[in-house]
Amino acid sequence: MEIAILGSGESAIGAALLAKQKGNSVLVSDAGAIKPDTRQLLNEHNIHFEESGHSIDILIKANLVIKSPGIPNRIPLINTLRSSGVEVIGEIEYGYRHLDGKCVAITGSNGKSTVTNMIYQSLSYAGLSICIGGNFGKSLCRILYEEKRYDYYILEVSSFQLEDVIEFRPDISVLLNITPDHLDRYDYDIDKYAAAKFRIFKNQTSENHCIYNSDDERISETVETLDVNSIGITMNNATDLLINYLDLDQLPFAGKHNYFNALVAIAVGDLLGVDRPAILKGLMKYESLAHRMEYVKSVGGVTYINDSKATNTDAVFYALDGVKGPVVWIVGGVDKGNDYSSLMPMVQEKVSHIICMGTDNQPILEQFAESGIEMSSLHTFEAAMDRAVDVANAGDTVLLSPACASFDLFNNYIHRGTLFKEYIDKLKD
Ligand code: ADP
Repeated sequence: MEIAILGSGESAIGAALLAKQKGNSVLVSDAGAIKPDTRQLLNEHNIHFEESGHSIDILIKANLVIKSPGIPNRIPLINTLRSSGVEVIGEIEYGYRHLDGKCVAITGSNGKSTVTNMIYQSLSYAGLSICIGGNFGKSLCRILYEEKRYDYYILEVSSFQLEDVIEFRPDISVLLNITPDHLDRYDYDIDKYAAAKFRIFKNQTSENHCIYNSDDERISETVETLDVNSIGITMNNATDLLINYLDLDQLPFAGKHNYFNALVAIAVGDLLGVDRPAILKGLMKYESLAHRMEYVKSVGGVTYINDSKATNTDAVFYALDGVKGPVVWIVGGVDKGNDYSSLMPMVQEKVSHIICMGTDNQPILEQFAESGIEMSSLHTFEAAMDRAVDVANAGDTVLLSPACASFDLFNNYIHRGTLFKEYIDKLKD
């Protein structure tokens, strides 16, 4: 079979390796440049590739095209392929067609990586044969290519990946929340974004389960129409519920969003018939992910928290909710069309100083102008950090929770969070 792969990132290369291993003739085709180490890997595996453009005449003859999640369906190339009868699928779909084991898939606007890891770590603690991947860490195809078989595949899946699933049917699906994000890909229409997320349920039947956020009306209404066993979990009483099982002060994470996340992990464990005490012990030992409400250090009575991964306002809401005030809030970057009004009450309650850190701080300055809170507008990382340290008093929390993407001043959110931590590490009491 002739298989063409569009793109050359982690998921594309995973798909290429798996397709080749399965005996297909494979071509990797990228509109841009392919990284030298990727080119070397492809050469080592005798996988053909082309870069800086797609040869439509070749692609059109493929039996199957697997596209990277970053490539939107609306581009002319995809239309041409589909209208010529070529099947175009995503990497998750291709991997799924080769998967032998149970699959738990987690999606949502916020908390995917955290919940995927909570499930993975607590089930691993309980001794299950289990792996983690998808949109977090290794792609599904890469895991399958490595030929170790697992009983359970815990997969983070993004809306972009879900756009291109056809037969994908998780045994347990998890939908955490749907709040505005990535709307540029969906014509600024949240219903189109939600429709992509709902594809996680597309093939589920009464043999399967879904765990969903029952605070979200859009999600609840959709779940009611499905023929799947559903478990609704609410953020409202997450703290009260979790307190029945665990000593919250001893947990390595805080905030009601994380208590909600832990309840999701417990529900997955229950559905898989895992010993409840083992799951709870696994949660007590949870190793938090960097850049998500990560405690960095306390210096001179000021607590520093790195939440660089908070790239939308909903994540910031839970960050502010979970920390002790007064808060010096570092916010800004590439604004994906944020509406900050939902944050206003929380900001007024908790924040003593807003530090805007970005090349264009105007939208944030305008939205919070009437709040009466002190604001500083800085255009470099160093200047923003110097100001944050300067205005913070003993007892304050300095919170980097930007509500924006990082590409104006940084390579990515990891770069932003890492510089933050390095800066704080150098501070002296
Ligand atoms: P994702 O993989 O969906 O981007 P992450 O787990 O990386 O999510 O977390 C991204 C941001 O969302 C972090 O700031 C984190 O604190 C916040 N967050 C985590 N869980 C939730 C939740 N259940 N609801 C809202 N925000 C959350």
